[in-house]
Parts: sequence; C-alpha cells; structure tokens
Amino acid sequence: MIELKSAEEIELMAVTGQFVGELLAELSNVAAVGVNLMDLEHHARRRIAERGAESCYWDYAPSFGRGPFRNVLCLSVNDAVLHGLPHDYVLRDGDLLSIDMAVGIDGWVADSALSVIVGTPDPADLRLIEATEVALEAAVTAAQPGGRLGDISAAIGEVAHSYGYRVNAEFGGHGIGRTMHEAPHVANSGRPRRGLKLEPGLTIAIEPWLCHSTDKIRYDRDGWTIRSADGSRTAHSEHTVAVTASGPRVLTRRPAHDTGSAGPAAKSANAS
Ligand code: MG
Ligand code: MG
Repeated sequence: MIELKSAEEIELMAVTGQFVGELLAELSNVAAVGVNLMDLEHHARRRIAERGAESCYWDYAPSFGRGPFRNVLCLSVNDAVLHGLPHDYVLRDGDLLSIDMAVGIDGWVADSALSVIVGTPDPADLRLIEATEVALEAAVTAAQPGGRLGDISAAIGEVAHSYGYRVNAEFGGHGIGRTMHEAPHVANSGRPRRGLKLEPGLTIAIEPWLCHSTDKIRYDRDGWTIRSADGSRTAHSEHTVAVTASGPRVLTRRPAHDTGSAGPAAKSANAS
C-alpha cells in the first residue's frame, strides 16, 4: 500500500531531511586521508544521539544481511557500493567513499547518500560520481505530479547510459516516510509513461548507483557489503524527495555539497 503524505507530514519529513543533509555534508568534510571509517561512524552516532534522532539502520535485519545491522552508517569504499559495514579501515589517498544514512525524527524518516573522493581524485572516479549526481537530478526533475514512476526510472537509466555505464536493477529506490522502506520500489531503469501515477504526497528515496565497468555485483561474506563483480569502482547518490502539487521537492538537500551536476565531489585531505 502506498501512503500519500499530507503537506504537514511532508514538512515533518523535511525537518528530518535537513538534519540528514547537514550530517552527510559534515561527514563528507570529516572524511579525509588518514581518517578511520569508525571515526565517521562514531561521529554520526554522537550527532544522531545529540539530535534525539533514531537510526533506521541500527538493528535492521532484512533477509539478505547476516544478523542485525549494528551501525548508523553504510560506508562503502572503492569497489563496495551499497551496505558497506563501517570497520577498522584508514582512508587512503584517492579512495572513493560512499556514505549512506537514514534516520527518523519524531517518527518521520529521511534517507540520503553521497560519494566523495578523499585526497587526489582520479578523473574516471569523478566522472562516475558525476554520473550518479546528474542521474539523481534528472530523476528528481522527472518526479512531477501527473507523471509516472517509469519517468523517474527512465531518467536514471538514460543518464547512466549516456555516460556509458550499465545499470543494475536489483537494488534501487523506495517509498519512505514512517519507515525507511515503503512501497513503491523505484527501479533505476525503466520505461517512461509507465507504472504508478505520481501524485502529490508521494514520498520516495531516489538512489542511482553505478559500477565503472559492470552491472554485476557480488556480496561479501558478511552478507551486507555489495561490491562490483569485477572490482571496478562504484558510486551512489541518494535523496528523499516529495512529489508536491507544485513539483518535486528534495527533502535532504545538503548545505554545500550538492550543486546538481559536477559538484565538489573531490575533496582535498587538507580541506578540513
Ligand atoms: Mg540510503
Ligand atoms: Mg535508500
């Protein structure tokens, strides 16, 4: 069942979305060469507790994971793209880090992700990140009242293909609101003018992710971490978006990071 949210409920989701956007921006500034992934995890735990927010990841136990998740972030490095477990790893020059986070405040949830490079960027990695960001913005633009869910999926697929990347359709976006994962599934490729009609009040997480040279994935033995099958680098961008009568509204817009296209995806180790 798809629950359309009232204007008041979308405002409450926007409060959560603002916090998620701010914390992601903060984490992307903390991430630098020499920083341990666990430092990022502990930073996020502290900020979430201070805000009185609740992590949607903590104790999350879907069918595919091994045991309940005991972290508030997914941190996926290089060939890891989704559900990476924070662990004792010190970031190295040129690492491509994806940070994904979902929290609830007063019962309303927002979910967002970004990818950054720490230290010296490889142009191919910048291009990969750019493709996910451009695909995300195209998908947001397609989230118009009166449109169809397939318009969003098609927009992602079109951008990915225009960059020369293939799309894996096993994992994609999702409805969101009272919980992290609600109906409908938002596929990362599809046909325009097909599928669910987009109505004001629909709230969805849109999340293109790409692997440099494959659309195949493999799982780590932890049952969580998803990597590109060929070990090539990966990127992931996600926003929580509301369809409103006046058009799409991004609820997790970040203070500085998100310019829509290229953006400052690369950051220097000396920046923070
Ligand atoms: Mg997410
Ligand atoms: Mg999500």
